[in-house]
Amino acid sequence: MSPEPEAATHGVRSALEDERAHLQSQLHALDVTDDDSLSFDENFADSGQVAAEQGEAKSLANRLRDQLSDVQRALDKLDDGSYGKCEICSNPISEARLEAMPATRYCIDHAG
Ligand SMILES: [Zn+2]
Repeated sequence: MSPEPEAATHGVRSALEDERAHLQSQLHALDVTDDDSLSFDENFADSGQVAAEQGEAKSLANRLRDQLSDVQRALDKLDDGSYGKCEICSNPISEARLEAMPATRYCIDHAG
């Protein structure tokens, strides 16, 4: 039997799970494959607009995947009990900061 999660952590977990579902559906909507095997039809080879749109979708997809991996990482940390600590200095990250950015890995001093 596992103990009841603390209310605060429970809220964070559902926020992260919502965020993960949201990111996954955005990625799905972009319909960008993971393996770089997008087939460029030769008929479109001289269509700069198509290439630009595909490039945009890909860079957006990359950003979404980065966010998704941060969210997944935060969920893993909730499981192993290391959630809410800065990865650089191990100090606790402030509650306000976690509330604003539940997937953050760094305290305010080590952000960005
Ligand atoms: Zn720090």
